[in-house]
This record gives sequence, structure tokens and C-alpha cells, in this order.
Amino acid sequence: MKIVRVETFLVPPRWLFCRIETDEGVVGWGEPVVEGRAEVVRAAVDVLAEYLIGQDPLRIEDHWQVLSKAGFYRGGPVLSSAVAGIDQALWDIAGKTYGAPVHALLGGPVRDSVRVYAWVGGDEPARLTEEITEQVEAGFTAVKMNAAGRTSRLTTPAETAAVVDRVAAARAVLGPHRDVAVDFHGRFTPASARRVLHEIGPLHPLFAEEPLLPEHGHLLPALVAATEVPIATGERLYGRAEFLPALAAGIAVAQPDLSHAGGISEVHRIASLADAYGAQVAPHCPLGPIALAASLQVAFCTPNFLIQEQSRGIHYNKDADLLSYVVDPEPFRFVGGQARRSDLPGLGITVDEAAVRAADRTGHAWRNPVWRHADGSFAEW
Ligand SMILES: [Mg+2]
Repeated sequence: MKIVRVETFLVPPRWLFCRIETDEGVVGWGEPVVEGRAEVVRAAVDVLAEYLIGQDPLRIEDHWQVLSKAGFYRGGPVLSSAVAGIDQALWDIAGKTYGAPVHALLGGPVRDSVRVYAWVGGDEPARLTEEITEQVEAGFTAVKMNAAGRTSRLTTPAETAAVVDRVAAARAVLGPHRDVAVDFHGRFTPASARRVLHEIGPLHPLFAEEPLLPEHGHLLPALVAATEVPIATGERLYGRAEFLPALAAGIAVAQPDLSHAGGISEVHRIASLADAYGAQVAPHCPLGPIALAASLQVAFCTPNFLIQEQSRGIHYNKDADLLSYVVDPEPFRFVGGQARRSDLPGLGITVDEAAVRAADRTGHAWRNPVWRHADGSFAEW
């Protein structure tokens, strides 16, 4: 079997899909994307495709090595995301070729269902009580929200109190048997993060995500030591070597993104590395159905898996949502806040190719918002 075609599709709301076709008619799908830089990743996939044409798609590990390393310059979000989407598509082809779900090829299932959480509150959280109530009524047992919107360099008492009020409001709806995770989104300075973590600690959040920017990773050990709140990070780390210092710092939850951190192959390795540090894995996935399907395949075969992010109804999903490009919504029908395992081959989904090709004709030009402080200076989003 040989790879004969590699195509990419720029589809709303902000995604990029990759389709790899073989001479035997087996087709695999992946989602190589950096949100806000999708066109750049598309160009990277085009360059990597030069090597892939004519290759045996089942040599996944060898292709991962060559695509990641043979360019001499390596790593970073663009290349690692391009490799990630290709890797997903190759695993999809392998599963369809062997008639097995990807998790069966990675050692077999260790669980029958995967706990997922729902997003509430958007970028500037408001009307939380109502939104969380809706998610609880829909069966979810965990939600995640942003801690705050644009935030002063050192939080004011009002800003700090607003974060606490939000988490308290969430806890009031959720009670003691459900969870709320709080995403700091790298918006806080290290000093503010420390102060806010101290204040929300008694409300027992599931975890606090990205309390520090990735470039401040050298401060993680002190931050972890200063708080009882489990610290999560990893959506902006692109491989196992970048996770190593965060894990050694004592993070509780590693959050590799299946579409950024080298795909199924590398996230499976990151999960194993995390296990050696007693850390749990909660893959980042505010993305589309292929990235989520890849995440679920890893979740089904990963012992130290905690919970899965998913984008259904997320504030970014305008013009299209999680189910817009799949033929059968069943793999993403969450019952009691859980995705059930199936034995469908490959990634376990059927992509609606006609819908994808039609959406690519429109494309998208999604960009991250640019935030500024009141004095006009750049603010972290
Ligand atoms: Mg995040």
C-alpha cells in the first residue's frame, strides 16, 4: 500500500483537516492545526507531503521520525501540528487496514467510557449559573471556565474577588460531587496567579490550567509548591521533552493537544512519561471532530487519563460545530458526561467528505483577538 494523495481543507469555524489517500482506496483523516495560524500549518503539511507520496502509510513511527527530525530544524507549534495531523491520519489508515480501532493497536482498552467536560462562560465569563445549570441538566459532571478576561498585571482586589465569586457560583450549582476546572489561559502574571490560586483553593477546583505562560515554565516548581490546587498545563508544549520539566515541577495534569504535540504517537508517549511522575492526562481539545476522535482513542488506552476537553457549543464555534463534518454523531453523543467506547476501525468516525469539501470552498480566516490594557499596552488573551 502506498500514499498517493495528501489534501488539506480549511473549514469553519477555525479548523484544518487533512485527508491521506492510498492506492488501495483506504483513506485516513487528521486535524493538523494551530488555531489562528491554520494557513501556515497547511503550508507545512504541503511540504511534508512531498516526502509522504509513494510511502507505505503503515510505517507510522518511521514517518514520525523523518517528518519531525529530517528537516534538521524541529519542534514548535507549526511543524509539530503538521506532523500531528498527518500522524492522526496514518493511525486512521492503520486502523482501517487492520480492521481495528486505534486504541486496540496501542495496547487495547483500559476503560469503557471517557469522562468529558463542557465549556462555560466564554472569554469574558458572565451568566455562569445559568450556563452551568444547562450543562448539569445535559448530564455533564464537570465544566471548565476561564478564570477571568483581560486582567491587570497585578490583580486588583475586585479582580481577585471576581475570580473567587465565579468559582463559588460554579461550586454552588455543581455541589460537592461534580467538578469545575479553572483556566487561567496564561493571562495572569506569576504573582497574580499565586494570589488567585490561594483564594480559590478552598473551593476545591478540579485543576487550575495554565497559571503561567509556557515561557515562565522555570517558575512552575515554586508555583506548584505554593498551592494545594492541582496545576494543569501543556496545550502550548509540543513534545515529550517539553513536558519533562513541567512534570518534574510536579504538575498534576498534563494537557497535550493531539493536534499540536505530534499526534497520537507523541501524546501516547507523553502520557506514559506523565505516569512516571504520577501525573494525569487531560488532552486539550477545543478543536474539531477528528482531533477529538484521536483524543478519545488515546483516552481509551491510557491508564492515567483524567478527563477530556471537547468543543461542542464552545464560544469559538461559530458557523460550524463539532458535529458539522461527521456522518454519524454517535461517537460524540455524551451520556452522563461520558463518551462510550466503540469498536469502529481507525479513529472511529466517518467524516462527511462532501461537507468538508464544500466548507473548504468558503474557508475561514479565524484569528485570536488582540487584547490591550486600559493604557493601550498589549494584554495576554
Ligand atoms: Mg487552556
